Amino acid sequence: MSEDNKGVTYSFDVCSQCNSVCCRDARPPLSKRRKKILKKYLNSRKIDSKEPFVKEKYSYPAFDEDFLCTLFDKKTGKCSVHAVKPETCRAGPVTFDINFRTKKVEWFLKKEGICAYAGVLFRDNDALSAHLEVAKKELTRLICELDADDLRAIVKIDEPATFKIGDDDLPLEVAKKMGLT
Ligand code: SF4
Ligand code: SF4
Repeated sequence: MSEDNKGVTYSFDVCSQCNSVCCRDARPPLSKRRKKILKKYLNSRKIDSKEPFVKEKYSYPAFDEDFLCTLFDKKTGKCSVHAVKPETCRAGPVTFDINFRTKKVEWFLKKEGICAYAGVLFRDNDALSAHLEVAKKELTRLICELDADDLRAIVKIDEPATFKIGDDDLPLEVAKKMGLT
């Protein structure tokens, strides 16, 4: 198992057993570091990956004509890069937003209607706390590593089927690059 896979919770594997549509039109943000890790992983496993990433307002995995993430393995029905998948995929069903007024990073949980597992987590305080701790680490690292323009584009994306479960001060380096200091 990859070094990159340390500190994960049981929740890390739940998504790989889920038949939901989270990998369709997902567009998980990719930092430069994550792209390097993914390329190395794809090469080492000889997974066909001619054009694995797209860069528009920010970088994310390419997708097919059905908007399914190119890293999704249709044969197995699982993520082909599960061990090193992007931070937002690792954190799911927890997501984030940045509040520019309060200078906080806010944590959200998907609603049960779009993620049955989120409902299970919500009713189990210990499991939610354990997963939230890992999700926060993953997402905090992501927002520290992303370029400011990428981050601005990402936080403009609406995630209506979620609700806030907490917030933390933005890391100083993120506040600085976003021009909030
Ligand atoms: S976030 Fe929820 S719905 Fe999406 S793949 Fe994971 S468990 Fe399934
Ligand atoms: S990287 Fe993997 S988990 Fe994330 S959207 Fe693509 S196939 Fe799904």
